[in-house]
Formats: sequence, structure tokens, C-alpha cells
Amino acid sequence: GVPVLLHVLFFRAAASPPSSNFLLLGPSGSGKTAFTTLLEAKSSPASKKIQLTHTSQTSTLVSVSLPPSVPTGSNRYRSVNDPSLKEATRNPIRYFVKDTPGHGKLRTSQGIGELQAMAISKENKNKIRGVIFMVDTAALVDEGNLRDTATYLHDVLLVLQKRELNKTSTKRSSEIPVLVAANKQDLFTALPPGSVREKLEAEIDRIRKSKTKGLMDASADSGLDAEEDILGNDDAQGVFNFKALEDETGVKVEVVGGAVKSDSEEEFGSGVLRWEEWIGMCL
Ligand code: GDP
Repeated sequence: GVPVLLHVLFFRAAASPPSSNFLLLGPSGSGKTAFTTLLEAKSSPASKKIQLTHTSQTSTLVSVSLPPSVPTGSNRYRSVNDPSLKEATRNPIRYFVKDTPGHGKLRTSQGIGELQAMAISKENKNKIRGVIFMVDTAALVDEGNLRDTATYLHDVLLVLQKRELNKTSTKRSSEIPVLVAANKQDLFTALPPGSVREKLEAEIDRIRKSKTKGLMDASADSGLDAEEDILGNDDAQGVFNFKALEDETGVKVEVVGGAVKSDSEEEFGSGVLRWEEWIGMCL
């Protein structure tokens, strides 16, 4: 009856609602700042004229809204005539994006550090819904860039794998999926998302194998268990791929093409719409 309803409403209002945070990682130059700037501009058209600048030395937290046309994971099974969906259109769904510096040493202290902190946080306001790993798909033809990007992604996935494997079965925290945002699809030198996935998988496989060898040698000397520092929990014989990682550890990775630069255009993976759809599915 009414008292129960009031009780529910009171508690809904009193408990601070979990905020929906997405951590934006990736090498510098991949388009992270351009992406957050675009999301901010789309969320508040009035601020479009203001030149939004983000420094690349620290993390920036921006509050943005999901376009009303993009479905969320929690409403996708409801009918379009559902009145609560219309309400959702009036109050756009907001989420936070944390942009992190992608450069060398800052990557370890801020990108990975931020991920580690958010991945274990018990506080609602710091909870993380997903990781967006931004990649410059035109830069991956360069061996050095590919190696650098794959190393960063490898380290991100290892943090998430450890989190999954350390979960206690009684108190399961929610999963943290990874979107590899294959950016700059507008450039004619860009690799399509399918080959971006293959290249990253092959390079991570190489990184993983050389790391396995190093760790095995070291643990043979020290007697330490090296297993949990290796991505994918089978032996080093298997070839690394994202599907196997998901099957073995529960860490989900999706590679989706797009272009920050050509957001209102239909081609080039529809700008950033596919990424917003991925974000929506996490909400
Ligand atoms: P960050 O270091 O990851 O924050 O990268 P920035 O956002 O500063 O972007 C690096 C460069 O890539 C800038 O010159 C951007 O204008 C450019 N850029 C970002 N997204 C795209 C895109 O989708 N297409 C093209 N052609 N250039 C882009």
C-alpha cells in the first residue's frame, strides 16, 4: 500500500544512486580528448561555442548524456509504447566519462592506476561500468605503434582478469566489459575493425608469450607463482584471442569502428553512434 511505496521512494532518494562511470583509456593521439569534447558538445548544445580544452597531464571527468534514440541495457526489452520509455526521453540518461592521459609514464600511474582503483572500489560513485579503449586505426600499420597499443591493452586486460579471478562467488561484483573503439575510420589509411582485432590479438599473443617465458624463468628461480600474471589462464600453447579470453576469464572485449571526426555522417561506422550504443547496453 501507500506506506510501502513511501518507504521505497524514501530509500530510493536517500541512498546515493550508483553513478555510471566509463573509463577512457588508450595511447595518446588516439582521439580520447576529441571524443570527450564531442560528447560534451552533444550533451549541452549551448556550450558548443565554448572551446573546451582538456589538459593531457591529468584525468578529466565529464558528465554527458546518452542520445534519447539509443537504447539502454535495462530498457531494450520493453515495448516502444511503454510510458517509462517516454519519460526516459524527457530525462536523458546521464553517465560520466573519465578521460586519462595516454602518454608513457602517466599511462601507468593514471590510466592503469585509475582502472585498478575503480575496479575494486566499493563506493557507488566510483563504480565503473565499462572501459573504452581508444585506438588510432590508421597508426596501427606502424610496428612500434601496434606494439605500444597492444602492450597498453594487454595491461588493461590483465587488471580486469585479476579482478574477475579474485571475485568471491558469494559477492559477485558486476563485470567490466571493454570496448576497443577503432577510431579514425574516416581516414583512407585506417584498418577496418576486423583487422584491428586480428592485429591486436596477434600482438597481445606475442607479448603474452614472451612474458610467460620471462615469468617462468623467474619463478623457477624464485618459486613464485607466475600464473596470475599471465593473460588468459591456459598454458602458453594456445593462441590468444578475445573470445577465448572471455570464455576463460569472463572479461568481454568488443572491437567497434567509428570516427570522432565524422560524427554526423552515416559512413565511417556512423561516427560515434556505435560506441554510444555499446555504452547504452552497459547502462
Ligand atoms: P588523445 O591524445 O587520445 O586525447 O587524442 P586527441 O583527441 O588529442 O586526438 C589526436 C588527433 O587525432 C587530433 O588531431 C584529433 O583531431 C585527431 N582525431 C581524433 N579523432 C579523429 C577521427 O575520427 N578522424 C581523424 N581523421 N582524426 C581524428
